Amino acid sequence: MSLLVKGGTIVTATDRYSGDVFVDGETIATIGTALTMPADRVIDAAGKYVLPGGIDVHTHLDMPFGGTTSADDFESGTIAAAHGGTTTVVDFAIQYHGQTLHHAWETWMKKAEGKAAIDYGFHMIITELTGQVEQEMDALVRQGLTSFKLFMAYPGVFMLDDASIFRALLRTGKNGGTICMHAENGGVIDVLVKKALAEGNTAPKYHALTRPARAEAEATHRAIALAEIAGVPIYIVHLSAAEALEMVTEARDRGLPAYAETCPQYLFLSYDNYEEPGFEGAKYVMSPPLRPKETQDRLWRGLAFNDLQAISTDHCPFCMKEQKTLGEGDFSRIPNGAPGIETRMSLVYDGGVRPGRISLNRFVELTSTAPAKIFGLFPRKGTIAPGSDADLVVFDPNRKQRLSVNTLHMKVDYNPYEGREVTGVTDTVISRGRVVIEGGKFTGRAGGGAFLKRASR
Ligand SMILES: [Zn+2]
Repeated sequence: MSLLVKGGTIVTATDRYSGDVFVDGETIATIGTALTMPADRVIDAAGKYVLPGGIDVHTHLDMPFGGTTSADDFESGTIAAAHGGTTTVVDFAIQYHGQTLHHAWETWMKKAEGKAAIDYGFHMIITELTGQVEQEMDALVRQGLTSFKLFMAYPGVFMLDDASIFRALLRTGKNGGTICMHAENGGVIDVLVKKALAEGNTAPKYHALTRPARAEAEATHRAIALAEIAGVPIYIVHLSAAEALEMVTEARDRGLPAYAETCPQYLFLSYDNYEEPGFEGAKYVMSPPLRPKETQDRLWRGLAFNDLQAISTDHCPFCMKEQKTLGEGDFSRIPNGAPGIETRMSLVYDGGVRPGRISLNRFVELTSTAPAKIFGLFPRKGTIAPGSDADLVVFDPNRKQRLSVNTLHMKVDYNPYEGREVTGVTDTVISRGRVVIEGGKFTGRAGGGAFLKRASR
């Protein structure tokens, strides 16, 4: 099967030019102008951008949490991702107490097999670090699972102590893996949550009020300090607070390899959403929580000046019906998470590139190229080049879409951006040479995605 994408404006993290892309099988074969080779299919991209497929390195598909499971599985979640122009996800496998990392890996591979419609990888969440587990980390890195996520929050469930965190960091200095950190001070938050509930403060907004920005900043600072002592890089996931960004900026100014991602929800939503009437605030219960509106400008600045390197989604949808309602009368029982896998590219283009907050090249870098580089997928993914996987998005910068639960494809009963109009929409999506989205329809197949072995540092 061959494909010729003709007449578009090809955009990478560094370039922008008019050209054609010839795809032979699963990879890009030739890039040029006025290419005339015969192809099984020709896609007209005139007036449109041709972008490398989006890479979302923070998703939670089919994930058990708080007595329920995230609403999208690997089939519905990756199809929704494809609709939005994302062709690679890196999800999280979870080691529960008493389990081996390999058991966790097998469990999550089974969840994805035969279901994922686009390519996927896993970060490994470590919740218990024994000597045995340290050896398993080495084995996983050798087998292409090269990043690990640790938690400084959720005591008793996910949280690791500083000694374990430090040992894991040291281990990546030897095996070439990368540590991703959920940076919030879980001990402090736990005390604040218990206090709020004891005082009868049970509404959704108390989820945010018991997770102060300083608790995120403190943990971000501590995570970076531990990585500095261990002499290894660190990647902070879903950074939300301006105070936490200051910690990353300060470290980077000192030349430390500290990296961080933020997510669209922190760029487009704010604490005000928790003040919506009744139980509506539960839609936005996620950790870290949404921050004051002024934070948005600070985060955009961080993205523009490379103090933040990536935009991922932390897609972790729970329906309002029967899932979020578990926390009616007790905010601490509301499942943490919100949908976003499908809306990332359009939101960031519309709210970032169109008003001039970030350049078009920077948009590609934040949503595809930088995550590919940080997580060992580049140059197979994250750019448009001969030999790279033919993961391409034909993106119409002028088409408008109204975001709504009624038209989006995520398997959840609300959308946090309901009614918002965006300009800049995915047209055609190609995943390893196969057209998976065309004319607003999914044309790929469940199970068409492949597990990606990633490189170590
Ligand atoms: Zn997450």
